[in-house]
Amino acid sequence: MPRLQAVDPRWAQRAHRARTLCAERPHAAPLLSFYLSLLELQSPLYDPTEATRWLQAVSAPDASDLPRLRLERLPLDELSPRFGAFCRGIPETAPEPIAQAARAVSAASSETRTDLLLALLTGSDFQRTAGTLECDPAPLAFLPRGFLSPLAEALSDLVTSSGAARTPTCPQCGWPPQVSMLNDEPDALGTRRLVCALCANAWTFPRATCPACAVSGDQGLEFHVDDTTRHVRVEACRTCHRYLKSVDLRVIGLAVPLVDDLATVELDLWAAEQGLEKITPNVLGL
Ligand SMILES: [Zn+2]
Ligand SMILES: [Zn+2]
Repeated sequence: MPRLQAVDPRWAQRAHRARTLCAERPHAAPLLSFYLSLLELQSPLYDPTEATRWLQAVSAPDASDLPRLRLERLPLDELSPRFGAFCRGIPETAPEPIAQAARAVSAASSETRTDLLLALLTGSDFQRTAGTLECDPAPLAFLPRGFLSPLAEALSDLVTSSGAARTPTCPQCGWPPQVSMLNDEPDALGTRRLVCALCANAWTFPRATCPACAVSGDQGLEFHVDDTTRHVRVEACRTCHRYLKSVDLRVIGLAVPLVDDLATVELDLWAAEQGLEKITPNVLGL
């Protein structure tokens, strides 16, 4: 575990929180165990030195342009061999569709791996490559996302996020939010931030507005709380029927929103029963 410590305290916090939740929420333990092995693969990829080398190439032309990072300009050919190593490192304990996709991508050509990285960063369809590799598109998309996420986070950390963007997508990288969080901040109590599904940046967003369709008020968000997880609630939109979960750090200060999202599968199952669709599935496809 020394690597996790050496990289950045956030990676160690995520691992620590996942272990705590493994013990507290046994039904989520298999997923969290896999997430822990994913963190082991991801944390060495969070490399601020390397990110600094690529920052200029991926920065938006003008400092006021959003998103600030254009990650599709990364040297994907150069990253392709490391992506192959990442796929080979996916443990056999992974959910079978992911393990199967990882085997297929490991055995594929370097060009195919580069194409997958580009497809993720340009929002392209994975259907055709999935057909060629004989695996499902969703677990296939998991792989470039899991691989690029730490690099996106390292780049995002290098870019100043000054100014309250209040955009529905990440002002740093343009991805949609994964999870919402509430906390008391020095200048505002109960501030809501959205946490990016790719680069983990957290940005402020109005509390009562749906990030998917921008509706607020009576036709906007309604909240669902489960008695067993008081610090996590579902924020569901009455208009577009999309949802995301919100983690209230005022209730459990040690919660880590990206991890608590993974550990509360029952809320996703409840939402699916209501016909709701998550704004972005998390890294494990939930
Ligand atoms: Zn982002
Ligand atoms: Zn909506």
